Amino acid sequence: MFKAENISKSYGDLKVLENMNFQVEKNEVLAIVGPSGVGKSTLLKCIVQLEKQDEGHFYLNETKVDEKNRIRIGLVFQSSSLFQHLNVMDNLLIAVKYHKLYEEKEAVKKAESYLREFGLSDKKSAYPSELSGGQKQRIAIIRALLLNPLVLCFDEPTSSLDGENKTLLIDIIRKIKKEQAVIVVSHDEDLIERVADKKVILG
Ligand code: ATP
Ligand code: MG
Repeated sequence: MFKAENISKSYGDLKVLENMNFQVEKNEVLAIVGPSGVGKSTLLKCIVQLEKQDEGHFYLNETKVDEKNRIRIGLVFQSSSLFQHLNVMDNLLIAVKYHKLYEEKEAVKKAESYLREFGLSDKKSAYPSELSGGQKQRIAIIRALLLNPLVLCFDEPTSSLDGENKTLLIDIIRKIKKEQAVIVVSHDEDLIERVADKKVILG
């Protein structure tokens, strides 16, 4: 499903990633672990092509990841990146509209169905400032899912969650992996223990 082959990346003289190789399939959660500053977020940025690796390639179902197909790889950022001036539904729809993935009516239906599934039906008109951290994160996850990813990546998804929200997130990741390959970057050993099927260790 998704493969990284010989990935290297430096910032100037700082070698951050060196010859990395890994693979993750649908129905699997790959954990990428390692201490702070080792290059975990950099790797995710390369995976979604926000940064360009210096060497190596990523493959989605044997096809090289490039400008065209990178949309099939979703990333949920370390701190949620919702638009403060848009309500939940508009936050969910903005990328879908931009990429013209489906009719607005269908998009709204899908968004409502995810909101129900994640226990957020009553929040669709709320603004991000009116949501808890866990709720904002679940909105960011729905926003990523609406783009029909083949791979969904999470950067430190539990860094600002309490125990209850963490368990909710773990349930969501387990659901997502039935349809998508999942990559989780984290130094939360408990999370990794509970969700990861395999691990790549950095540093
Ligand atoms: P954390 O666990 O704290 O989130 P991380 O493993 O995600 O850390 P990265 O954010 O990938 O670490 O950073 C890896 C290294 O690359 C760090 O030394 C960082 O200072 C450096 N770095 C990251 N982005 C840039 C950039 N745009 N320009 C120069 N150096 C960078
Ligand atoms: Mg990071």
